[in-house]
Amino acid sequence: MIALALSAAGCGEGSSDDAGSDSAIVAAFYPLAFAAERVSGDTTRVRNLTPPGVEPHDLELSARDVRTVVDADLVLYLGQGFQPALEDALDSSDAPAIDLLDDLDLLAGTEEEHEGESHGGEEEARDPHVWLDPMRYVAIAERIGAELDRRDAASDLSEELRALDREFRNGLADCERRELVTSHAAFGYLAERYDLEQVALSGLEPEAEPTPRELEEVVEEVREHGATTVFFETLVSPRLAETVAREVEARTATLNPLEGLTPEEIERGADYFSVMRANLAALREALECR
Ligand SMILES: [Zn+2]
Repeated sequence: MIALALSAAGCGEGSSDDAGSDSAIVAAFYPLAFAAERVSGDTTRVRNLTPPGVEPHDLELSARDVRTVVDADLVLYLGQGFQPALEDALDSSDAPAIDLLDDLDLLAGTEEEHEGESHGGEEEARDPHVWLDPMRYVAIAERIGAELDRRDAASDLSEELRALDREFRNGLADCERRELVTSHAAFGYLAERYDLEQVALSGLEPEAEPTPRELEEVVEEVREHGATTVFFETLVSPRLAETVAREVEARTATLNPLEGLTPEEIERGADYFSVMRANLAALREALECR
């Protein structure tokens, strides 16, 4: 409804200049924008809908954002209620869009997931964090390559991702511990791929704060695992991780779920690969891998 009203009234802001000239892909957030940029090369303009430093879960869209979505030549997004405002905007427009979770093998959401705002009926949402598994990210790259008819560029990216997968496989093969204590449950696919066990302090969404009782349970679980590191993230407050770490006398370290880059990370040229390699180094240190 809102999107229709906006597109009908959308000529009052004096920004109708570049419409129609070159085609644009709108990517819902950083990992999809990175893949789209790598695959399209400089043949297509790629816009990331989630601004730097902003956490993409439940992204809110401005009127301008909605118009960007409606006018896009192609929108790349993840469904499963990851960004409901975007799904709503797509529902009420006829912009061509691909839900890149569509043909992936998905894991169930976590038990701790809060049930407040279920989106689109009773069905339980699946875990959307597929980009943290390099091999599922290969499938995303190849799907984008097929869609844009840029299969060679996509297979170059896939090759790099397969090399990254091998680095993770080798780097995490022989470790003292295998549990990964994270703030929100973003690392389920990575844990599955490399045979780690994720212990998440909150649910699938970063802002889902645990109740005191849940917190007590998670502290107990972390203690049982003998974990020595509690990871926190770049885009979310470290308060919860620090609380748990203090309780179990563990240290804290950063593990980046790559939901977005901060302006500082962009400034120093970080990208998917450099962040994933920093994650691998942090994991190897925390888990005492040889
Ligand atoms: Zn997340």
